[in-house]
Amino acid sequence: MLLIFNTLLNIRHLTIAPSHVSNSNIRPTCPGGNLHTRSVVNNLPPFASGRPPLVVEEPHPATSFFVEGRSNRYTVQEAKQLHSYIVKLGSSNIYFINSLIHVYAINGALGDARKLFDETPHRDVVSWTTLVDGYAKFGKMHDAKELFDSMPMRNVVSWNVMISGYGKQGDVEAAVGQFNEMPERDIVSWNSLITSYTRNGFSEKALETFIDALNQTALIPNKVTFLSILPAIADLGCALLGRCVHSFILKAGIEVDGLLSSALVDMYSKCDCLEQAVHVFESNPSRANVASWNPLFAGLVRKSIFEDALDLFRTMQSENVEPDYVTIVTVLPAIADLGAIGLGKWIHTYAKRRKIGMNATLNSALIDMYSKCGCIELAQQVFTMAEDKTVELWNAMIAGLAINGRGKDAIKLFSQMQAENLEFDDITLASVLNACSHSGLIDEGLGFYAAMKDVYGMTPKLQHYGCIVDLLGRAGRLEEAKKVICSDMDIKPDDVIWKSLLGACKIHGHVEIGEFAARKLIEINPNDSSTYVLMSSIYDAVGRSRDAVMIRKMMNDGKVRKEPGFSFIELGGTVHEFLVGDRSHPRMEEIHNMLNEIADKLKSMGYVPQKKLVLFDMDDEEKEVAIYHHSEKLAIAFGLINSLHGTPLHVVKNLRMCSDCHVFMKMVSKIYNREIVVRDQRRFHHFRSGRCSCMDYW
Ligand SMILES: [Zn+2]
Ligand SMILES: [Zn+2]
Repeated sequence: MLLIFNTLLNIRHLTIAPSHVSNSNIRPTCPGGNLHTRSVVNNLPPFASGRPPLVVEEPHPATSFFVEGRSNRYTVQEAKQLHSYIVKLGSSNIYFINSLIHVYAINGALGDARKLFDETPHRDVVSWTTLVDGYAKFGKMHDAKELFDSMPMRNVVSWNVMISGYGKQGDVEAAVGQFNEMPERDIVSWNSLITSYTRNGFSEKALETFIDALNQTALIPNKVTFLSILPAIADLGCALLGRCVHSFILKAGIEVDGLLSSALVDMYSKCDCLEQAVHVFESNPSRANVASWNPLFAGLVRKSIFEDALDLFRTMQSENVEPDYVTIVTVLPAIADLGAIGLGKWIHTYAKRRKIGMNATLNSALIDMYSKCGCIELAQQVFTMAEDKTVELWNAMIAGLAINGRGKDAIKLFSQMQAENLEFDDITLASVLNACSHSGLIDEGLGFYAAMKDVYGMTPKLQHYGCIVDLLGRAGRLEEAKKVICSDMDIKPDDVIWKSLLGACKIHGHVEIGEFAARKLIEINPNDSSTYVLMSSIYDAVGRSRDAVMIRKMMNDGKVRKEPGFSFIELGGTVHEFLVGDRSHPRMEEIHNMLNEIADKLKSMGYVPQKKLVLFDMDDEEKEVAIYHHSEKLAIAFGLINSLHGTPLHVVKNLRMCSDCHVFMKMVSKIYNREIVVRDQRRFHHFRSGRCSCMDYW
């Protein structure tokens, strides 16, 4: 890799290709014209060259395609009409014949192409190559090779067609074989070989070949060369090399059109250089094609920059660019993460209306989105309607039920899978265990955990252990939970597991195991504020306020900042974000008034704000104000003001919800008769009529 990079950096002799150079006009001319992968007719001498059209006596509208190079647009039916017309005229012009073979071949009518080829007495190298190309394009490499071997003469184009055909079929070895055998090569030959490597995952070989092409030949790389090499660089995630190639392209004056721009955006996105990706995207002159947008979506989602991904999606809508399958599958996780249910529903309807292939991947993404937005019924509808029920789809549904606290339904679905003898995997089991832990199904969970090892022969992974620790912790069986981590696990426990144990200690007020878990967490990440916050609450809860103060001091001394909480709420298709203590919102006064109104109503029903949850030294009134300004409370107040009575409110919170907010939500759901769904860092809370689906454990 390093070697490749050095070579590239050291290339001083790189001749710059002028931007107009394309694959077709740097190839040597072959008798009867060139054949590029797209069109034979493109190479027909134009009228202006002095060659008269053959069919002049009786012009037929369809004949215009011969001279205008438009054969790619014709259907087999039209070609047949034209064919019989030519037969009637008794013409045997080889250009026309080759054009017809081409139309048949590119449309997959290989029988018709072959018949015409066989009936033609004076075939030239283009006739042969066109048919070889047709076979190769449709994966009939055996026929292609047979024809290729019997060619009376070949040119570089014929060889190139074979390389590219083998590459498309995944037979890289054969492609390399053809490349090595060919007597002369042009840039298309190199491009075809590089593409064969890239397409089949041999990214390093693609780079080596690229360097060889630059070093060993006087050939000038063109746009196709860069289109072939950029995916390989993206795959290797080598940003430096990518920048180097990008600067070559710019220096070469190669026009960065839509295709090349997409390839660059994709490369930068995959190399985690999102700024450059956005820059290239913004300078793309032709953004009308959805393919230019998709790599950027993918980059943003991969880096979990979901808000920007949704902003980009809205920009795309405003520019009237229609999302395709790739866009939808890429954007759905961002929608799921932000709980932007309105946009999610819009996309679902759009996909149905546009008949975008509802395959298992898309359906799973929809189930995941609906589940994470707390709309489990809609997720179930997608599952029921899905035709192709793969294990991926079942897993998505079980996981969805699990996070929504529908543990029994998740187990029922798993039993159905077993009853239907469907294959399941460790992801299925993780979701089932998760379902048990989220719904407090202790015995069932422990049963599945035991069966996993003894009956299904699976080795538990981190996530399975995590579920069991959570399950035992929930039941207050803290010693057993600790034992799972310290004795059962043959892999290193991560911070998630320790935090789960610490969280359980907070709920059950267990200081000793809490301290043990907190120490482990501080070892892993001394800057994680949530460890200190949890431990301090444990001390507070058992009346050890001096220890609680000490922990806060530790946090201050270590300059550990509490991660600021924020929440999203989607209303009318717009996602609104609220930060804890946020006073900057343009409608803050209204929100304050609403919060005061809620507080009055809640207090009259016996609600007392849990001021001890506020860590920092403030007087009581300040603490009360601080606790009212937790981001999810702000979001709910805003939601109540801005939605019709009875509309469910969906909030997504970045941290765990505190117990004060939990009580607050329960009471608001009852007093205002609203369904409230809050997804916090750990799970879903569905508040209805004063109760929460988590049964007060989270
Ligand atoms: Zn709170
Ligand atoms: Zn809850």
